[in-house]
Amino acid sequence: MNNKKVVVIGSGFAGLATACCLAKEGIQVTVIEKNNEVGGRARSYEADGFMFDMGPSWYWMPDVFEQFFGFFDKKVSDYYQLHLLEPSFSIYYGKNDKIDIPTNPEALEKIFETMEPGSGLQLRKFLAEAKYKYEVSMCDLVFKRSYSWMEYLDKRIITAFFRLHLLQPFSKYVRKYFKHPKLLSLLEFPVLFLGAQPRHTPALYSMMNYAGLSLGTWYPMGGMKKIVAGMETLAKSLGVQFAMNCPAEEICVEHNKVTGVRANHHFYAADAVVASSDYHHTEQTLLAPEWRNYSEPYWQNRTMAPSALIFYIGVNKKLDSLQHHNLFFDEDFEQHAKEIYETKQNPNKPLFYVCCPSRTDDSVAPTGNENLFVLMPIAAGLEDNDGMRNYYYHMLMERMERVTEEKIKDHIIYCKSYCVNDFTADYNAFKGNAYGLANTLRQTAVLKPSLKNKKLPNLFYAGQLTVPGPGVPPALISAQIASHELINHLKQKQ
Ligand SMILES: Cc1cc2nc3c(=O)[nH]c(=O)nc-3n(C[C@H](O)[C@H](O)[C@H](O)COP(=O)(O)OP(=O)(O)OC[C@H]3O[C@@H](n4cnc5c(N)ncnc54)[C@H](O)[C@@H]3O)c2cc1C
Repeated sequence: MNNKKVVVIGSGFAGLATACCLAKEGIQVTVIEKNNEVGGRARSYEADGFMFDMGPSWYWMPDVFEQFFGFFDKKVSDYYQLHLLEPSFSIYYGKNDKIDIPTNPEALEKIFETMEPGSGLQLRKFLAEAKYKYEVSMCDLVFKRSYSWMEYLDKRIITAFFRLHLLQPFSKYVRKYFKHPKLLSLLEFPVLFLGAQPRHTPALYSMMNYAGLSLGTWYPMGGMKKIVAGMETLAKSLGVQFAMNCPAEEICVEHNKVTGVRANHHFYAADAVVASSDYHHTEQTLLAPEWRNYSEPYWQNRTMAPSALIFYIGVNKKLDSLQHHNLFFDEDFEQHAKEIYETKQNPNKPLFYVCCPSRTDDSVAPTGNENLFVLMPIAAGLEDNDGMRNYYYHMLMERMERVTEEKIKDHIIYCKSYCVNDFTADYNAFKGNAYGLANTLRQTAVLKPSLKNKKLPNLFYAGQLTVPGPGVPPALISAQIASHELINHLKQKQ
């Protein structure tokens, strides 16, 4: 396929992975990126000696990363060194009320047992089912292109259908095993932070509990930026060209086919295009109306995963109370979920998350200092202004100080906020979403925006707004499905 040219729009995880997969086939790939560095939502920046990962911080599902690099006869360790976090993460339920989640399954069962008698054994059963779901999903579900439900009519999936709990709400399912509110919030948080209210999410996603509690929480030394750098190095070694500071302006069409992309006053001719930019932006801004898969009302009716208010913070001392990942669940979980997904309002008493990577990695903060990433999930599309950011900054800092009983605020020497308006300006994110589309029962598999343009045979979509969904591992998987489809398309044309 050496004579074929493909343009990939966007250089987040999905764009980088797509570019690598296509270049491996000998295709000439150009990645067009609006920003001045690769990585998309996983970009990083340095300020005053601190190195901040701007987006993802949880490295779950290490098998997906290994599988991705393995496709190129490489290993993760060729690009970065992984460190298993112990504890995996910590949850603060209040002052002097904290659980450290251990990597050891027996130790975790003991913690459960102390909170709810009998729940240790229940956890073992729950995680065995979650493991089953994870394995079936990874083998038979997540790599589906999801054009039609017919793809799911295979014997293994039909046999597994009821055990996968595809139609049962997560919240109902988890309550069959556990009653204690603290255990429920511990098991429901991955669903809430990455997608939707637990009662609107299929119980299939308990596989994320297996990913988080059994496969371990890992950290690439140097930060998440090391994954991005590894993928960029791989892409360049395969001959991928990058055009940076180069916002795509139009996907050009002639005779019912895409002919290329106009970007930065230049025309990039292409035999096919993969758009890994936010789906809504790609269709509503870059494509003429007659070629779009979906209309504006379709998008207005989608349930978006949350946006986020983030603070990147440098502290001039060490904080003894924090682990690498810290969840502040000292307020009502249900109430915050409602405010994100139903009433879509500024949260009254939000839950929040604090990452302290300098706990594990000296390279991300000056000696004796601490690097903090503070994230509060909020409804996508919420009005974002300085007053709101300031209000929550003080609220979160005061709560952190109260719960951890450590002085923090007076030791902050660097702080930058990031919210809805930044997501929109930096990534053309629909309603300033952080994590794309929510993983609801009505937005799963075939019901997600299609990976393929239904009118133009040589236009494909990749990334967190199409299948399989939000998160870094799904972005890598979506890239592999999209490139597989594109390669098949080009082969048919030869
Ligand atoms: C704050 C935050 C925390 C997260 N935490 C985690 C986590 O801990 N673990 C996890 O697994 N996942 C996490 N996620 C989700 C994960 O980061 C994303 O799902 C994933 O990075 C999305 O990759 P993508 O390639 O689909 O999209 P993006 O990274 O958004 O890439 C799209 C790219 O397209 C570019 N683009 C847009 N418009 C144009 C245009 N017109 N022309 C050219 N380029 C354009 C953008 O600049 C961007 O670089 C988090 C996300 C956020 C925002």
